[in-house]
Amino acid sequence: MSQSAASHLHVLDDRDGARETGPVIHVAHLGREYVLGDETVYALRDVTLTIDANEYVAIMGPSGSGKSTLMNLLGCLDSPTSGEYWLRGQLVSGMTDKELARVRNREIGFVFQTFNLLARSTALRNVELPLMYAGVPSAERHRRAIEALEHVGLADRMHHRPNELSGGQRQRVAVARALVNRPTIILADEPTGNLDSRTGADVMHLFDELHASGQTLIVVTHDADIAARAARRVVFHDGQIVADGPTGRAGGLEVSQSGRAGATPMRIET
Ligand code: ADP
Ligand code: MG
Repeated sequence: MSQSAASHLHVLDDRDGARETGPVIHVAHLGREYVLGDETVYALRDVTLTIDANEYVAIMGPSGSGKSTLMNLLGCLDSPTSGEYWLRGQLVSGMTDKELARVRNREIGFVFQTFNLLARSTALRNVELPLMYAGVPSAERHRRAIEALEHVGLADRMHHRPNELSGGQRQRVAVARALVNRPTIILADEPTGNLDSRTGADVMHLFDELHASGQTLIVVTHDADIAARAARRVVFHDGQIVADGPTGRAGGLEVSQSGRAGATPMRIET
């Protein structure tokens, strides 16, 4: 990391301990089925994946291929029906809802396509919320939430409610909320899906900075340009990984809409 990126990203600097290395996420033979009457939907099938600290991974694949299902599992918003999920060496699959809530609050920052802000609360209150759940005292909560909002360039909007902010500003509030707990990993499910391309680019620039500061990031996107900002791209089709390899940033590959890898250096998983 460059010195300038390090000093700019003070929000992340006082994270306890040194920068982590090695696997942050390991899932093995992960499956998620939905039973709907007599029909079973296999949303994820036998997914095995390891993501190391400070990786920036783009998840791609057609609609219905299981991307959000995976993100919800990784984000401890849902539990798998088969397989194992290890997060920083803790076996998350099989935890109770209460344990999952605790892991989610400590380890995960989630950014949703639809922002998911509390409509009647100010930007500041929205960003403070995860710290309230974590039991952080109010003065420190306040200080850290302001710092996170400064970090996303919204210090002058902290007393505004979501309906007084533009889409891009709302998503930046959501990014501030995601990073205020200094999470191990930030998960973003189509974070620019509701934004125009220019506003989306601003949000993605923020992710680039977070990555430069040492943040581990997983971003779901349909947009090849956005995926190219990540170093690694994992492609899903029918609930399975069909390609996993370096992006254009590292190699120069294109992936077709069908989710099939189009060029050689990608590793095809069967
Ligand atoms: P993506 O995010 O790639 O568009 P999803 O993970 O949302 O795909 O969905 C994967 C599959 O699982 C789809 O066939 C979808 O219809 C199904 N699915 C997702 N959520 C549910 C649910 N709550 N109940 C039943 N089926 C679901
Ligand atoms: Mg989805």
